[in-house]
Amino acid sequence: MKQTYKRKPPFILISSCLLIIAFTAISLISYYVANRSLNQHIKTNTLPLTSDNIYSEVQRDLLQPILVSSLMAQDTFVHNWIDTGEQQPEQMYRYLKSIQDRYNAITTFFVSEQTSNYYHSSGIIKQVSAEDPADNWYFTTRNLKAEFDINLDLDTVDSSSTNLFVNHKVKDQQGRFLGIIGVGLASHTLNELIEDYQQRFGRQVYFIDRLGKVALQGSKYSGTEDIHQAEGLRDIASVILTTRGGSFSYSSNNQQYLIKSRFIPELDWYLIVEHKEHSEVLITKTLWVNLSISLLVTLLVLLLLYYTLGGYQRRLEYMANTDPLTGTASRYAFESIFEQILSFAQREQHPVSTILVDIDHFKKVNDNHGHLVGDKVLSQIANVLTDNLRQSDTLCRWGGDEFLIVLPHCNQAEARQVAEKMRQQIENSLSLVDNLNLKITASFGVAEYSNNESSANLFSRTDKALYRAKAKSRNQVECTVNMPTETV
Ligand code: GH3
Ligand code: MG
Repeated sequence: MKQTYKRKPPFILISSCLLIIAFTAISLISYYVANRSLNQHIKTNTLPLTSDNIYSEVQRDLLQPILVSSLMAQDTFVHNWIDTGEQQPEQMYRYLKSIQDRYNAITTFFVSEQTSNYYHSSGIIKQVSAEDPADNWYFTTRNLKAEFDINLDLDTVDSSSTNLFVNHKVKDQQGRFLGIIGVGLASHTLNELIEDYQQRFGRQVYFIDRLGKVALQGSKYSGTEDIHQAEGLRDIASVILTTRGGSFSYSSNNQQYLIKSRFIPELDWYLIVEHKEHSEVLITKTLWVNLSISLLVTLLVLLLLYYTLGGYQRRLEYMANTDPLTGTASRYAFESIFEQILSFAQREQHPVSTILVDIDHFKKVNDNHGHLVGDKVLSQIANVLTDNLRQSDTLCRWGGDEFLIVLPHCNQAEARQVAEKMRQQIENSLSLVDNLNLKITASFGVAEYSNNESSANLFSRTDKALYRAKAKSRNQVECTVNMPTETV
């Protein structure tokens, strides 16, 4: 019978808890540190850099039409042609057509203050009139202090498309207003431009005017028409619109956004580059990978612990429970087994007997032939005893040259027969050890367990029987005659 030890599971449980807590803490700390430093890096380095890059691209892509319009407004041909009373309009058509082709603009135009004619590369399209709301742009720009104006409007020629017009004032040397000249770009081209920025820089890019109205955006723009309408953004709208540029942050729907704004005087617009904080995407993924690896490592360590400890424990258990010389149960293991057998027998009301065996004159064997021969005799006696036991019987080396056997479901008479058999076998089979002609015998005391008797008392009675066997010239089996004197 084996004893089981219950100390392993709590130890492993505590180890696993410690490992899991440590790994989770490390993963969470690195998650928050990485998160914070990444967002800080974006705010202080990446976002301003993106904004600068986009700004220089805006200058290249959007400021070119302004430059072209300004050149047109100062062109000598234009001034001469107006001075000579707008004779030969074909010359103006050709001029507008050549500019349109050269700069790949969608339209070019000149509106004369003197004649109110709207010149286009294809001819005179109309006459602008203060009564026509479609011509408001002309009168608005005329009244502006600035030299030019940019506005998104329906194309006068093709009313199905929206263009970005650069309307530049034409003035003579005395500063008298002569009309408005300029170029137009299809707004889808602008949208594509912005989309291209967004894709390349991975951020939302749009322009707002001085009032906060979104002036230009990509087709995938997901914000509101006016920054005053956007949740979170509305709180910082006035700061954005009163500074020439800066870094801001706001939160909307539990999501943090970083913003870099920059005023572009040539457009009279603000360039806005918006970045959604990374927290939930990349770093969270890394956190989960870390946690999974930690869990795997914990499981592997626990598995290793379980088997290593299991191995050591089995060895310790074996060492504690077994007598190393004879391989029989140790006294330590036997004592708890003995108690269990006795209480079970008492509960189930079945007989249990004990046999105590002691080798006769064993000291002489040691003295005459040495300890090693004595050891061999001990282990051979153990073999003989074991050979005569049933599965349910337990043999223990009680100490020195003494063995104690407990036999459940066995009364005194039956136990006596078993002991007698053992005695005869020892007497007959143990004459030759290491080619020495030895005469080995053993004495036996037998007792049957009596209800409510203590194990100590049963042992004492068995010992007394053995004593009698020894007294009767040894090599005998003696049974208990007296009934128990002591009860539990
Ligand atoms: P008795 O017939 O009265 O039992 O005589 P005995 O000589 O056997 O006397 P006793 O039982 O007192 O002696 C036990 C001896 O067993 C003493 C000791 O040297 C020897 N002994 C005890 N343990 C071991 C052991 O592990 N190996 C060997 N070789 N001898 C042992
Ligand atoms: Mg002895």
